[in-house]
Amino acid sequence: MPTKTEVVILGAGPCGLFQVFELGLLGIRTHVVDSLPEVGGQCAKLYPDKPIYDIPAIPVCSATELIDRLQEQLKPFAPVMHLGETVTALEPLADGRFDLHTSNDTRFDAGAVVLATGLGAFQPRKLRIRGAEAFEGGAIRYHVSDVNEFADKRILILGGGDSALDWTLELMNIARSITLLHRRADYRAQPASVSTMKSLVDGVKLREYHATVRGIFRNDNGSFAGIEAFDPDGTTLHLEADIVLVFFGLSPNLGPVAEWGLGIEKKHIVVDTENFQTNIPGIFAIGDISTYPGKKKLILSGFHEAALAAFGVQSHLYPERKVRLQYTTTSKTMHERLGVATTK
Ligand code: FAD
Repeated sequence: MPTKTEVVILGAGPCGLFQVFELGLLGIRTHVVDSLPEVGGQCAKLYPDKPIYDIPAIPVCSATELIDRLQEQLKPFAPVMHLGETVTALEPLADGRFDLHTSNDTRFDAGAVVLATGLGAFQPRKLRIRGAEAFEGGAIRYHVSDVNEFADKRILILGGGDSALDWTLELMNIARSITLLHRRADYRAQPASVSTMKSLVDGVKLREYHATVRGIFRNDNGSFAGIEAFDPDGTTLHLEADIVLVFFGLSPNLGPVAEWGLGIEKKHIVVDTENFQTNIPGIFAIGDISTYPGKKKLILSGFHEAALAAFGVQSHLYPERKVRLQYTTTSKTMHERLGVATTK
């Protein structure tokens, strides 16, 4: 049975999170879906430690701190979060509502939808070698869902970022052996993880190689045997493994959004700036995914868009309700929704 809800927000980047807050102020409940396992969108994935200087009234904060503050601010409205799920299908229903499906088989029956999908759904960068696709989900994996699957296995980890190093250290106590393969000698991961990893390299339980992946090699029966790589001297390495974990980072992909009949201009969704509604009544788009004359891809623009989209959603869901602008400073109703006391 689909979950019936007033609004589904696609994307838990800064704009999707602020959309929860703005809808909450109007008394509208939300479910939020994001492909990533954590909230924060580009802020969390692309520049978590970088300082941001152009958020109104916050002279400087890191991208992580901004996301923490947004999460703190939306707490009173307790959205239902569905992380690690991509919305794969969105269809208007005959009664004006929307049927949404996710990659985890979650279904929603929503009165309105807000697309805050930014650059698109972040997907793992794939291992681009012949034959890799056939082993995806088996011998070749892009994420760890159950660590027990790695017990007593020979694991080959590809990559040099935080995920590669974190999983190398995490799986050390579970796997039979781990081979870490990175194309360069310098790592992008936290220096502390790199030095811990180096201190554990013993050539048996943990091996470290710097080489470029070239292909797959198989057993006589065609099953997966391991990865072939070339080191900088041109020597061919045959790295045997039961499971290969690939951590080449994430890349955004507009993906299914392009197939939902929305007005699209240069990979962005065209909106009406009065309420940030798309060409389909009941579907709104804010943040980096939206486009209109003069659009600037800034977080503060997305916040403004979220405020106006909230009123648009309210008018769509409850056309009989009078649109009233209330101040959070003085509105008793908003204080109740925020769970704060009204002062005289
Ligand atoms: P995003 O942050 O891109 O989040 C979108 C989310 O939607 C993602 O988490 C994605 O996984 C999810 N998603 C997409 N499709 C689906 C789907 N089908 N199902 C489920 N989930 C989906 N802006 C500023 O204002 N000031 C700055 O100083 C600044 N510095 C920046 C520095 C860098 C290095 C970068 C890359 C950007 C910077 N920006 C800055 C831009 C700012 O980060 C973006 O404008 C902002 O992140 C847009 O937010 P968003 O919520 O629209 O989208």
